[in-house]
Amino acid sequence: MAMVQVDAVAAAAAAAFEQTVELLSDYLTFPAISCDPAHHEDVRRLATRIAADLAGLGLDRARVVELEGALPIVAAEWLHAGPDAPTVLVYGHIDLQPVRGEIWHTPPHQATRRGDRLYARGAADDMGGWVSHLAAMQAWLRNGGALPCNLKLVLEGEEEIGSPNLERYMDAHAEVFAADVMVLTDCENPSTEVPGLTVSLRGLIEVELLVESAEADVHSGLWGGMVPDPTLALSQILARLVDDDSRLLVGRQELSEATLAACRSVPLDPAVIRCGAHLLPGVEPLSPRDLPAAAWLWHQPAITVLSTTLPPPGNEKNAVRQRASARLSVRLAPTQAADDMVAALQDAVGVDPPGGVLVSLRKVATFGQGWHYTPRGPAFAAADRAYRAAWGEGLVQVGVGGSIPFVALFGRRFGGLPLILNGVMDPESTAHGPNESLHLGVFRKAIAANVRLYAELGALTRRELQSGSEG
Ligand SMILES: [Zn+2]
Repeated sequence: MAMVQVDAVAAAAAAAFEQTVELLSDYLTFPAISCDPAHHEDVRRLATRIAADLAGLGLDRARVVELEGALPIVAAEWLHAGPDAPTVLVYGHIDLQPVRGEIWHTPPHQATRRGDRLYARGAADDMGGWVSHLAAMQAWLRNGGALPCNLKLVLEGEEEIGSPNLERYMDAHAEVFAADVMVLTDCENPSTEVPGLTVSLRGLIEVELLVESAEADVHSGLWGGMVPDPTLALSQILARLVDDDSRLLVGRQELSEATLAACRSVPLDPAVIRCGAHLLPGVEPLSPRDLPAAAWLWHQPAITVLSTTLPPPGNEKNAVRQRASARLSVRLAPTQAADDMVAALQDAVGVDPPGGVLVSLRKVATFGQGWHYTPRGPAFAAADRAYRAAWGEGLVQVGVGGSIPFVALFGRRFGGLPLILNGVMDPESTAHGPNESLHLGVFRKAIAANVRLYAELGALTRRELQSGSEG
């Protein structure tokens, strides 16, 4: 690989940084909110604009692809690096989360620079993510007219509503996705100084817990003190599911030394948690006890109470209610099977119910299976070199506590390929919340890393990539 040329291209990308921020700011003026039909035209307008820009950049077949009943994807490619050179697929998304009900200090659809951050909905999730690739491609094409590898870009318009049609696009337009290595850019870095490589997701299901005691509500003056109250029993049963830290006791995972070591290397200290989770003064993150914080967030199950039938204000009456129920979301550890977890929860809630109340628990929805990936092979060594050169730090393996449907989908469909999951978010980005922002230093390093990543991957042959990697 001609390192001089890579350095020159990286320097050109750095010199064009302000124009890149301007272009990103332009895209961020489109309120491309995929969950709101009133904004679907904005998603389409943005897709059309981006396709035109990609064509102007010198990418081939830049186009908007749209399936019936779906929001569009944007696709483009550059395949002139030769048949032995690998084809790198870059995935990002152009749609946004809504801003309704949020209090912003700056207009959410007008990028505003304050200090070293750029504030706008989508700045980090994910417009900044894929624009960091656009900038890298532009630097290569404007400085020598060629990319060091074959490249495909695909930008989704429905990621923020769970990618309901992405698999249909994969089936109907397989050529858009066919590649030797995939770079999926919608993930987080553990800090603004340390680049992250995402390797796991937690799964997500919902269960309903129902407690029943009588055929009808009964007078609490006549019977209170001698008949079980399902509302209190429900609270007791829920409390028994967790330890003194409110952490789920059911389904705890034994973690490997490698997983623990990776978790320990993540700079997730109380200050980062306090800031990222917006804790009030005086409130402390839970003590991690015997595990690193990252292990609790990424590799252990957790429950959240989503709703209950506990009588709400205005519904007071002096009666013992006949039944009570709660809907819980259950985050599953990356390799935990949903059915095993449901069975374990059923066992736990059935133990010694207060007053012998009838207790049942059933799964009501599955939103995503967990996913765990072992990166190995030359593509990851190449990525690590690119990141070390751009960030001064190698990639740290991180997990995601949530369930990102597109990642699980790529994992299922393309798990045999090297999947490099990264992005431009950091713990202060507050994606999906008010005052979302992109750290401009991270953005700068991401662009530089992408410039180098294409060169590093392009220096490998397709055969080398295939021989060295498996999910
Ligand atoms: Zn995203």
